[in-house]
Amino acid sequence: MNKKNIIAGNWKMNKTENETEEYIKNLIPLIEGSLSSVYLAVPFTSLKAAINLTENTNIIIGAQNMHDETEGAFTGEISAIMLKAIEAEFVILGHSERRHIFNEDNSFINRKVRRALKTGLQPIFCIGETQKEREESKTEVVLEKQFLEGLKDISKKDVLDIVIAYEPVWAIGTGKTATAEIAESVHSYIRKLIHKHFDAKAADTINILYGGSVKPSNVEELLKQENIDGVLVGGASLDYKIFAEIVNKS
Ligand code: PEP
Repeated sequence: MNKKNIIAGNWKMNKTENETEEYIKNLIPLIEGSLSSVYLAVPFTSLKAAINLTENTNIIIGAQNMHDETEGAFTGEISAIMLKAIEAEFVILGHSERRHIFNEDNSFINRKVRRALKTGLQPIFCIGETQKEREESKTEVVLEKQFLEGLKDISKKDVLDIVIAYEPVWAIGTGKTATAEIAESVHSYIRKLIHKHFDAKAADTINILYGGSVKPSNVEELLKQENIDGVLVGGASLDYKIFAEIVNKS
């Protein structure tokens, strides 16, 4: 497959606006020649500064979450329209921290994915099993359920705009990375799910990212795998030098 890899940083609840500006100014010259697409998911309060600073660069800025409704009495929430209006380009949906800490279920995530697509925001749709589910050999069942329910009622055409991230919960922020073999075998399963439930074009077009303790020392091995089309990086994206190293190894 010859699609461009996507290297996406997820800052989570980190960095003020000033820290965002400093990071991005430092990052830009370090990754100028990158062959991959570089995405940064920053906090809502940093979006505007990040978008302004990355104009005419190879860095694409997006959000880490949104609500599925367009407006209304949802205190503390942000809508897809608001994100689109400040020119955010993508949004992470279904991240395991949203699923497990904030109890988001597949049907809520599905409504968000459909809303993002309708609004012209690219969803990075995350799925992944817990340690217990893996130990009980339920990985494929869990992923298929998240996949089918999260992507319910999405057309073969619209699904082409989605990025899928496989993020085993046991590997997020734990320092434990799935071996390249484990990740590849799950990615190949996800590719088959796309083929089965959408079509060959979707299976070929959609980038499937791996996420879970990615760092400069393991990114190359992961990206060598046939079905890994990029990485979603949490902790290691917080330092611009380390993130640049990951981008430049991709
Ligand atoms: C993430 O938050 O999506 C993630 C993969 O985190 P980390 O790289 O820190 O495991």
